[in-house]
Amino acid sequence: MNTKTIAVLTSGGDAPGMNAAVRAVARTGISYGMRVMGVRRGFHGLLNRDVFEMNLRSVSDIIHHGGTALFTARSPEFNTPDGVKKAAGNCRDMGIEGIVVIGGDGSFRGARDLTKEGIPCVGVPGTIDNDIAASEYTIGFDTAMNTAVEMVDRLRDTTESHDRCSVVEVMGRKCGDLALQTGIAVGATTILVPEIPFDFQTDIINRMMFTQKTGKKHFIIVVAEGVGGVDKLAKDIEEKTGIETRATVLGHVQRGGSPTLRDRVAGSVMGFHAADLLYKGRGNRIVVMQKGKVVDLDITEALEMERVFDKNLYDIALKISI
Ligand code: ATP
Repeated sequence: MNTKTIAVLTSGGDAPGMNAAVRAVARTGISYGMRVMGVRRGFHGLLNRDVFEMNLRSVSDIIHHGGTALFTARSPEFNTPDGVKKAAGNCRDMGIEGIVVIGGDGSFRGARDLTKEGIPCVGVPGTIDNDIAASEYTIGFDTAMNTAVEMVDRLRDTTESHDRCSVVEVMGRKCGDLALQTGIAVGATTILVPEIPFDFQTDIINRMMFTQKTGKKHFIIVVAEGVGGVDKLAKDIEEKTGIETRATVLGHVQRGGSPTLRDRVAGSVMGFHAADLLYKGRGNRIVVMQKGKVVDLDITEALEMERVFDKNLYDIALKISI
């Protein structure tokens, strides 16, 4: 049996490109003859019935905007067995027979729980961290990387002019992908990620000293949020080397901005795939990118997968930043 009324929501941290996914879900669903409901503020909106019926024009002029036109939230109330039951009951009352959940792994746990309560859900990975083990790519990652590179390039101008060292924290609590890619793109002397332990003397000071002997006068150290401690690190580097060192936390600027082509396309294709699955009556799936192709997996199995950090790329980065 085909799902007749579906809904779409965005949950957890916002990511550029989520709008492209929302747009694709709405347009695909409507073109298939389904009713498509937009839910504001993620699971919070399901609990409060903050839902509206979408038409083809509801998603006009959003593809180029960052953030999410459906707004997002973190809902502690939903994250309880009673909360999930209440949300499922609201869906039944409103005639919602399937939901596309755009967000990170927390949101997918919510999608799995809601499916168990009888509302089939399909997850779409939208997070700037690229931290979904089952997917090579998450919507928002490319925009965030490009923003981080632009910001570090600006820092580099001033770092270079003053012969300084700049310690820059980029986002990524458990996943160092953003730091790794940004670090390579800005030519960082050292990249610190949560997946790889580091030694202050060997991995930072010795590398700085070595490159200084060959004529390098300014240094960029990129640090993932999950490693943290950039203020202390900057102080320790300055004390040890005598090189003036400043710490900068890029923070939420990395989340905003107009999505890149890659994020608009990834959002569009993944959103289409998710709506298509619900149309075919398939729930408890997440849409992922594997070997460059968009496919879908069982949510529970996908959530059990472990992320593998690209150690090979990390080693290349270290080899060439000397
Ligand atoms: P990001 O990490 O990019 O911010 P996320 O989707 O992982 O995205 P979370 O804050 O972890 O963000 O989760 C979003 C919402 O999903 C939570 O506020 C909560 O309502 C719901 N959720 C999280 N974990 C669970 C769970 N184990 N069971 C049910 N619902 C959950």
